[in-house]
Parts: sequence; structure tokens; C-alpha cells
Amino acid sequence: MRRQLQSASMFLRKKCRYGSRKLQFLLLLLMLGFLLLMVTTLNPPHSNQSKQGTFQPVEFNPREGYQVDFAETQEMLETQEESQQYYPLDGLSPFISLREDELIVAVVSPTGKRNHSKARKGYRVVKQQSRRPEGKAEGDPESQLLPLPLQAAGELGLDTHGFNEALSERISLRRELPEVRHPLCLQQEYDSSLPTASVIICFHDEAWSTLLRTVHSIMDTAPKASLKDIILVDDLSQQGPLKSALSEYISKLDGVKLIRSNKRLGVIRGRMLGAARATGDVLIFMDSHCECQKGWLEPLLARLSSNRNSVVSPVIDVIDWKTFQYYHSMGLHRGVFDWKLNFHWEPVPEHEEKVRQSPISPIRSPVVAGAVVAMDRHYFQNIGAYDSDMTTWGAENLELSIRTWLCGGSVEIIPCSRVGHVYRNHFPRAFSYEDAIVRNKIRIAETWLGPFKENFYKHDTVAFLISKAEKPDCSERLQLQKRLGCRNFQWFVSNVYPELSQPEDIPGFSGRLYNTGVGFCADYRPGRAIEEGSIELFPCSDSLTQHFEYNSMKEIRLGSAPLFCLDVRHGKVIPQNCTKETDNSHQHWDVQENGMIVHVLSGKCIEAAKSEDEKDLVLSACNKNAYQVWQFERSHMLRQR
Ligand code: UDP
Ligand code: MN
Repeated sequence: MRRQLQSASMFLRKKCRYGSRKLQFLLLLLMLGFLLLMVTTLNPPHSNQSKQGTFQPVEFNPREGYQVDFAETQEMLETQEESQQYYPLDGLSPFISLREDELIVAVVSPTGKRNHSKARKGYRVVKQQSRRPEGKAEGDPESQLLPLPLQAAGELGLDTHGFNEALSERISLRRELPEVRHPLCLQQEYDSSLPTASVIICFHDEAWSTLLRTVHSIMDTAPKASLKDIILVDDLSQQGPLKSALSEYISKLDGVKLIRSNKRLGVIRGRMLGAARATGDVLIFMDSHCECQKGWLEPLLARLSSNRNSVVSPVIDVIDWKTFQYYHSMGLHRGVFDWKLNFHWEPVPEHEEKVRQSPISPIRSPVVAGAVVAMDRHYFQNIGAYDSDMTTWGAENLELSIRTWLCGGSVEIIPCSRVGHVYRNHFPRAFSYEDAIVRNKIRIAETWLGPFKENFYKHDTVAFLISKAEKPDCSERLQLQKRLGCRNFQWFVSNVYPELSQPEDIPGFSGRLYNTGVGFCADYRPGRAIEEGSIELFPCSDSLTQHFEYNSMKEIRLGSAPLFCLDVRHGKVIPQNCTKETDNSHQHWDVQENGMIVHVLSGKCIEAAKSEDEKDLVLSACNKNAYQVWQFERSHMLRQR
């Protein structure tokens, strides 16, 4: 390729010296066209060189050839409008089978109209990016075509994917995993009439090897009769190999379909798109870097066939991001979350263990992880699929789980089903997940947490600020909740996950702290050092510095600086680091119903300074004058459980 480019430019130089200007121009155009053609046809998928020799399963090298006559069932381009919902109902737009180039150009603007300037830009960007991983220097078109040494490619893999792509490329796409199931699982026999499954894998710029290892592992482990199809949803990937080479590769695999979205949907809406096209009785959503254990599918299907109103998940083992070794956890875990709405694993607690009849009985789990989850297809659609206003990535597993519990279903982990997942070392640099996840969490809080949402906002100040500024519209989901007759979050806390409501997590009062005498609100004025910060009275506003939380530990925490508590020094109320001292603390307060806030240690009340230039909060003997009467913006029923 490099040589071809050099001789072409020499030819061009010679012609320029002797020919007329017009001829030169024409020739130049011709050459440019030729070069463009060469670059387009010779530009191989980026990982071609390094992947040679890793393809055992089918006799096909994805690096060669660019056939673009995809069968309609193999590759489909989805051009959904922004507002369109992904339900498997009549009236969906038909699939369009397109050539690769058309596919790349077809960019739909957020309003749903085609935008030609964007489309052109989209095309250019795709081509540049697909080549970049191979080149050393950006901007030098020739060096961009050189393969990288494996070491550098590995580093690149870490940057790009958060796992060791270079190593993954050297591991077979079809490898056997160690047997890690409980011995009792091996004795299980399953009905021959299990429901069928559609496995939906939504991906965005996934590494070639991990994506195809996922696909092969499903095909190699799922009984043919049970696996209806595998639906790959390409969420607007930009990397070269995921284009023609992928289409061609999967066209050789039975029952694997590929849907391309022509705009970035994010995993949540991408999965919904796949679900809308699925025909299996059961939907299984899977991340694009998983490997399935033998016998993983049957226990999921068996459980769902006898218990249609549930969302089930396999045990999700760890594929090490660096070594690609398969690690399995010995003990059983369940999925939980905290008030920040972050997901965690925890060992199955004793009270849950007692309910289970055998070591392989299903485990009731407050929530499941996002990587692999299965449910009846109709049930999924009937209980509201995913929240289609959630973007990009994150917290959809919490939303699905909480909704399932609240609206009459159950959420379980099935111990005999095991799937490995590559937990990333870090998020790919190109993804800005953080922005999306906080908004997705806000949607959960606003839709499902009821008054408990304040607990979330207390723990996530950024979410609190964003929710105030953006006031997200969750009305559709609230209607769904009504339509389904779902229970409230108090029920969830009492029945599904009582551990969530630890007393210290429950604020009694929160929001602005209004002084009836002055008519102003308490406001935190940060100083350069902690001891220079102060609490003063200012006209009430929406500023977070006027947000306070009174919790059942009797602390008054600052919303804008959650590690700070109201404290007392020399008779003055000041902000200090919260001490968590149990006795004799300067930081304990009694917020009384009559509006007085009593300092427990001294028995005195917080009083607003009365003079114009004094704005401080001081301690005075309690006498209930207006300057000692405070109103918290909000009070919570949950205090002192
Ligand atoms: N994904 C996607 N579009 C996005 C973000 C993620 O299709 O905008 C896919 C991604 O390729 C993966 C799945 O969604 O298959 C889950 O994302 P990821 O694995 O990054 O999440 P994690 O497992 O790290 O929590
Ligand atoms: Mn993942």
C-alpha cells in the first residue's frame, strides 16, 4: 500500500512537468480518485494484522474482501425517529438493507430529519477513525496504514476498552471455560419444552475479539432448540472491523442477526431496539464481552417458564480485564444498591439463605447487574421495557429491578447459570458515562423513590443540583406506574431490602432553614480554610449553600459540603468537619416541633442575630422568640425508625 502510494506520486510529478495545465488538473483529479478508491478498498479493518490466526471457528478471514450484499436477515439498518418507542407492535418501520457506505452516511439529526452536512462529516470521521488505531502519527496518511507492534496495540486496547485487547486477540474465539458450577447443577434435568431465547447484544465500538467470543460462546453452549437467535445491535460503532468485516463474519453464522442503528442510542434504547426485533419467548440482554458456562441457558429458561413474572440473572463471574482468566466467586452474592444508587454485590445474607431450600435454589435479589439479564419477552414489554428517556448507559438495571419488584414481579439470581463478564479496569476514554448515569439515576429517584428521593439527593449533590436545574419530565413513567398499580418504595424498603434504611441514612428534615424572625435563610459561606467558613443569614434562594440535612444521628449536615456539620465555638454556630462522636458532641441538635433547634450539649437554642450588620447564628437561652424559630423546607416521615 505504501509503495503504491509512492509510485503514484512519482508518476504524478513527472506528468506535471511536461503536460499542459489543464491536462495536469485532469490527471490530478484522476489520481485523486484513484487514490481514494485505493484507500477505501485497501483500508483493512484495524485489527486485521494482529488477529491473524485467531479464527478457529469458521474458515473466513474478516480482513479480506468487502462484500456488501448482505442478506436482509443478516444486516438491517434502523432509522427510528427520536420519539419512536421500541415495542414489538405493528407499525414499526421496515428494515432497510443498505450498503456499508450508505449506512455510514445515513445520519439522522436529533429532530429526525436528515442533515446532509452532518452526514458528510460523519462519513469523513468514520474513515479517519477506522484507520487511526493502526497508525503511529495522526495526520500522516501513510504512516496511518502501518500496523502497530502488538505491545502498543495492547496499550491502545487498554485505553480504548479498559481491558487488555491485545491479549484477548491472541486467545481463541472459542475457548473452554473451567467447570465452576455446583455439583448439584450437573444433575439437573430440564424439560424438553423449554421456552426459546433471543439473546440481544448491544455494543458500541466493542473489541472484535471480545464481541465475537461472546457470540461464539453463546452458540457453543446454548442448546440449538432453545436458542432462537442472537441479535447484535450496533450502536453506531465507528471502528473499522465492526463494519463490513463484522457483517461478513456473522453472515456465516447461523441465527445471528445484526441491526445497525444510524444514531447513537446508548445501551438502554439499543437493547429496546433489539427486543423489538426479537421473536424468542425469552429475552436475554448481554454485554458484548461475556463468555457463557456450559448449561447457563437452561436454568434461566426453566425458571422463567415456571415463573413468568420475574427478571432473572445468572451468576456473573469475572473475566479478568488484564489476563482474561476466568474467576468465579465461591460464595453466592446478591445485587444491592446504596443511596447514591450505585450497584454493589454482597454475600447472600443469612435471612435469605434460610428461605432457600437448596444451595442451587434461586436467590432473591433486590437488584440484578446490567451485564446479563433475562425475562419473558411479553413480560418485559408489559411492565414497561426500559425507560426510553434514559441515555447512553447506566442504572437501567436498577430501574428494571426496582420496577419489577414494585409492580408485582420478582428479581432473582439463578446459581446454576453462570456467565463471565469482562469488568473493565476503567471506562473507555471516549465514553462520557458520568453525565448520562447521573441523569438516569435522577429519573429513577423521581419515578420510583417517592419521598425517599431526598435520601438520594442528599447523597448525590450533583444529582440534586441537576434535578433542580433541569426538572426532568418523568410523567410517562409515572403514568406507567399508575397503570400497573405499582407499590411505593416504602414497600420495597420494608419487604425487599430493609438493609437500605439504616437510620443514619434517613434525614429527618432537609432543605432551606428559614428563620421566622429575620425572614432570611441560613447560608454556608465557605472560607479559605474550614475554620474560616461561617453560617450566616441571607435572603432565601435556591443555592445549595442554603441546603441543610438533619439526620437521625442528630447532626445538621451541609448540603453543599456534605462532610460538614453545624457545630458550636464560643457561642457561635459554625461549620466543622462532622465528627461522628456519639456522646457529648458539640454537633448534636434537637429539632423541635415548635421550631426551636436545641443544642443538646448546652441546652441552648440557635438564634439569629438581630442587628443589620450581624448576620450570624448564635446560641442563646431558649425562650421561643421569633429569632429562635426555624422552619426546615421539608420534613420526612422516616425519622427515627
Ligand atoms: N454500549 C452501547 N452503547 C453505549 C454504551 C455502551 O451499546 O452508548 C454497550 C457496550 O458495548 C456494552 C454494554 O453496552 O456491550 C454495556 O456497557 P459496558 O460494558 O461499558 O458497561 P459495564 O459492563 O462496564 O458496566
Ligand atoms: Mn460490560
